[in-house]
This record gives sequence, C-alpha cells and structure tokens, in this order.
Amino acid sequence: MRRSPTKLLAVLCPWVAALSLTLPSVRNAEAEYRGCRFQKPQAFLIRKNFMLGKVLDGRKANQAIRYRVEEYGRIEGAPYEQLGEQTAYSHAKSMRFMGLPLIVHERIAPALACVEHRLRKQCTKSNERYSARAVGGFRTENSYRGAEVSNHLFGIAIDIDPNRNPCCGCVAPWPEHKACQGSVESIFERTELPRCWIDTFEKYGFYWLGRDPQLRDTMHFEFLGNPKRIVPD
Ligand SMILES: [Zn+2]
Repeated sequence: MRRSPTKLLAVLCPWVAALSLTLPSVRNAEAEYRGCRFQKPQAFLIRKNFMLGKVLDGRKANQAIRYRVEEYGRIEGAPYEQLGEQTAYSHAKSMRFMGLPLIVHERIAPALACVEHRLRKQCTKSNERYSARAVGGFRTENSYRGAEVSNHLFGIAIDIDPNRNPCCGCVAPWPEHKACQGSVESIFERTELPRCWIDTFEKYGFYWLGRDPQLRDTMHFEFLGNPKRIVPD
C-alpha cells in the first residue's frame, strides 16, 4: 500500500501536515495527464471486420451502424434512423485541435483533448514532431459509395492534412499521390504522420484507417472506443 503524501508528512512533521490539509490536494502532472482512460477500438466497429472483401457483410455492418446511431444520433437517410431522436449533427461541437479549428461530436471532444495533451508531452523528439496544417471532422455528406456510412457523418472521425497523408485505396486521383507509389515495407511509409502520433491516437480508442487493408486511408482516425469510458468516473 502506498502512503499518501499527507500521511507521510504527518509522520515527518505534524504541523506541516496540518497546514497542508488546508491547501487543495496537488496532483502531479502525470496524474493530471491521465484525464482519459486508455482504451482500444471496439472490434465490431472496425471496418475490416464488417467487410467481406469489398462488400459489406450486411448483418455485421448493420450492428455497427446501429451502435453508432444509438450512441451518437441518427443520420438522415441512413439505416436505423428511427432509433435516434436527434441527429448526430445536433451534437456538433466546435473545438481547436493542435491549434486548428475542428467540429466533432461533443462526446469525443474529451478524447481528442487527451490526444492533444499527450502529443504535446510525449511526441517531442525530432522524428516524432508534426505540425498539422489542416484538420477536418464532421461532414454532412457521405464520402463513401454504396451502403457504407462514414464516421465523419457521426462526427467521430478526423482527417489530418490529406495532401501529406493520402488515402492510397480511395477513388482516383488518390492512388496517384506520390506517397502511394512503389512498394514499401509498411503502411507507415505512406504517411508523413509520425508513428508517435498514430500510437497516441490509438491509445485513446481511435482507429487509424491507414491500417484498413483496402482503403489505406492514412489521414483518418476514427473513435471506435466506448464513449461512456472516455473520462474516468
Ligand atoms: Zn476521413
């Protein structure tokens, strides 16, 4: 069992301990910085797990859409519209991410704040730093063809600098981007985003769509964690 600093002080010097009781408790920076729980993306929400090759696995895809409607709100014209009283966009929140304006679903804003906090603190070596120039969040028009529903419509996805971090598996002209040319040993060579950034997003329940075997969308992170578990109780 760890002894609290106040109890330790009481042993060492009773009157200093009494004085310290009148001050607000001081949490060290490391404790403050854990403003969010670490969590993994939920497997059933990961795109590759509800695809059969290039087509949707209907039952699994519906399960993923239903969950998102229940948690974030409905999308007009998309399945399960009747389950959400309010649209996802009615929960849009303006914030700044790494100094840039961004609109996302209000429920994931705390997770992004934790991502930023950790990026600024942990990704500080020369090969870990990255200066974002443009970010995008909420969208009101579906960017996917077919029956897929983009997480941008729910406000739970963020794109960082598309011109530097391409989507090599998306429609033309994306595959022609210079970073998509030639063979590479890993997808991390297709993006300017440092590994430290990708790892940081993934600590807080975001899935990097660069990992998607079909899309290889390296600009895109989507929150697939449990929104009820972002902030500790
Ligand atoms: Zn995106």
